[in-house]
Amino acid sequence: MASGKIQYKTEEEIDLIRVSAKLLAQAHGEVAKLMKPGVTPKQLDRRAEEFIRDHGGVPSFKGYGPANAAFPHSLCLSVNEVVVHGLATDKPLQSGDIMSVDCGVYLNGFHSDSAYTYPIGEVSADVLALLRETKASLYKGIEKAVSGNRVGDISYAIQNHVARLGYGVVRELVGHGVGAKLHEKPEVPNFGKRGSGPLLQTGLVLAIEPMVNLGKKDVVQEADGWTIRTKDRKPSAHFEHTVVVRKDKAEILTSFEYIEQALASQ
Ligand code: MG
Ligand code: MG
Repeated sequence: MASGKIQYKTEEEIDLIRVSAKLLAQAHGEVAKLMKPGVTPKQLDRRAEEFIRDHGGVPSFKGYGPANAAFPHSLCLSVNEVVVHGLATDKPLQSGDIMSVDCGVYLNGFHSDSAYTYPIGEVSADVLALLRETKASLYKGIEKAVSGNRVGDISYAIQNHVARLGYGVVRELVGHGVGAKLHEKPEVPNFGKRGSGPLLQTGLVLAIEPMVNLGKKDVVQEADGWTIRTKDRKPSAHFEHTVVVRKDKAEILTSFEYIEQALASQ
């Protein structure tokens, strides 16, 4: 997946990624405005693509992968037991569902990548707790994204937060570097040992993205070649930010601000 060696970004490059990440955050906000029972994943996908292109960006995911099997949508829309890489369908969302919206924007030569999992209508308390704790684990990981730490410190912080609650931490899919390519080195697993893995240094831009299952950690891929779901078909949550490693505190380039504004005004 990730190729090449670790690329540390200059402040000028980080400024460009920040612009990409801002558009991405706003695109998420536009999607959030439509999020309610009855909306279809295809409607959300169309809105995201339209908004990104209207603002001069390109959806990073559309056409991603080999030419004969490229990802067909602008969003990965993963409902309930789908962990990631779900394909947009015409099936309306129902109260009680959860859905992760994963989106990437390419603008000014740089990608940004971010995901948020929504409860749709009335969702059971155990599933709401999964969403809350998966999001909390993302911020636990981000706290460790400071220079001098290692990738394993991020991984351990995420795993430690969610595994003690009895959740399954997905092993097969991981976070990654972000820049001129959507997926760069290093890989950022959501499980691991403190003090292990590549050294974090200022200017490293990472997508940190815990994928956490209500049940067991095991996942399977559907025959469509994209959709990853839990083996036990229990729900799964996914939250992701693009961040830059700094000396004392990571800077979060993407934002859930527009999503949370939209949800608060519904
Ligand atoms: Mg993503
Ligand atoms: Mg990612």
